[in-house]
Amino acid sequence: MIRKFISRVFNGKKARPGHHEPAVIPVSTHGITRDRISSGSRRVCETLQENGHKAYVVGGAVRDLLIGAEPKDFDVATDATPEEVRRAFRRSRIIGRRFQIVHVMMGQEQIEVTTFRGQLGEDTKKDEHGRVLHDNVFGSQMEDAARRDFTANALYYDPTTEAVVDYHHGVGDLKQKTLRMIGEPRARYREDPVRMLRAVRLAAKLGLSIDPEAKRPIREMAVLLENVPAARLFDEMLKLLTSGHSVKCLTQLRDEGLHHGLLPMLDVILEQPMGEKFVMLALANTDERIRRGKGTSPGFLFACLLWHEVLAHWEKLKSAGEPKIPALFQAMDTVLDVQAEKLAITRRIAGDIKEIWLLQPRFEQRAGKRPYGLLEQPRFRAGYDFLLLRAESGEVDKELAEWWTRFQNADGEERAQMLLPEQAGDKKRRRRRKKPANAGSVPAAE
Ligand code: ATP
Ligand code: MG
Repeated sequence: MIRKFISRVFNGKKARPGHHEPAVIPVSTHGITRDRISSGSRRVCETLQENGHKAYVVGGAVRDLLIGAEPKDFDVATDATPEEVRRAFRRSRIIGRRFQIVHVMMGQEQIEVTTFRGQLGEDTKKDEHGRVLHDNVFGSQMEDAARRDFTANALYYDPTTEAVVDYHHGVGDLKQKTLRMIGEPRARYREDPVRMLRAVRLAAKLGLSIDPEAKRPIREMAVLLENVPAARLFDEMLKLLTSGHSVKCLTQLRDEGLHHGLLPMLDVILEQPMGEKFVMLALANTDERIRRGKGTSPGFLFACLLWHEVLAHWEKLKSAGEPKIPALFQAMDTVLDVQAEKLAITRRIAGDIKEIWLLQPRFEQRAGKRPYGLLEQPRFRAGYDFLLLRAESGEVDKELAEWWTRFQNADGEERAQMLLPEQAGDKKRRRRRKKPANAGSVPAAE
């Protein structure tokens, strides 16, 4: 039915981006009634419209509703300036310096309100590879639509009329399960290489296929990702890993050659059978959690992704004669330093990652008081989940993971019986490592 309507509007021809009137698709055709969008975004649109502005729910939310998925959040686009938006809502504030957007609070909901963006001009600031650096001109709705990445992301929903405004045949493309770039894909990737990652992520998440024209240039343009600021890559990486479809995303990233620049060690890890098995298990596990509505922490995720790189460094240091725990500290720092150059792993997340890694050698200690101490660690659960994945991937003995599963659930007497005998030399070694050179809070080594 939608296709029939679209072909009526466009006379059977595919729309040329940027040079035409939009299709205005009524609710009787697309079926999205206004109660499907959040009350906050509805009220923001209504208020702006009452003030004489245009205002629409835009982007991912409209796309998700059209394919029957649950939107993550509801963004609003308007022709009101950030200052006008701010004045219209008591609980609102302007954020961002280069391109200002407004956060409006409606009850518990935070709505991101963006002023229509204008066309990129001759004088648009770009880096030497063509990446757009400044993007701060306002424009018309039509210009705004042409600035978005994929046709499915350039749909505007008006809660008042319940119509979808479609400049780029997005509704038709969604119907055909195609993710199509607006404009010339090469030019759009050059402007912003992250669009290559977005293509892969959105296709995997929404079950769409990337239009061949948008897919073809990716392999050769992948290297452009190297010029993208680390913080931006990290954000996109997180979105990808927490999409609930990370296994599919990563598989496709690898197929497209996009994993090289992304996580400096990822290509190496995926080439080692053990590393690949561990990463894939960890991601499948995360996908499952996310789909069941349970959270995951970025720290846990990155701890998984980087673990085999740590193991490799750790092994090397140990065989060079470095004692076990100081070697682990050194390996962790080396791996995180390399990543930090490419991915802006925040200090807090880096701290979480290290905590999970540092708990690992402690699981090997099953004598005396130490297992009880480990149970009391605030990050025990994350460390234990991590151990389970290591066991499942074959890196450590399954018996070890099973022991810890039993030990947790056992009562006092059973626990006491489970303890292994202290090995001769344990105490001596513990004393010797009390003050290693490079750390204050070293876990006792076995
Ligand atoms: P998600 O479901 O992950 O939120 P999304 O498409 O909503 O997907 P956002 O990052 O929230 O992604 O972006 C909102 C909208 O802004 C997109 O739908 C798209 O129209 C536009 N957009 C985002 N990133 C880009 C980009 N790199 N280039 C062009 N347009 C973009
Ligand atoms: Mg979104």
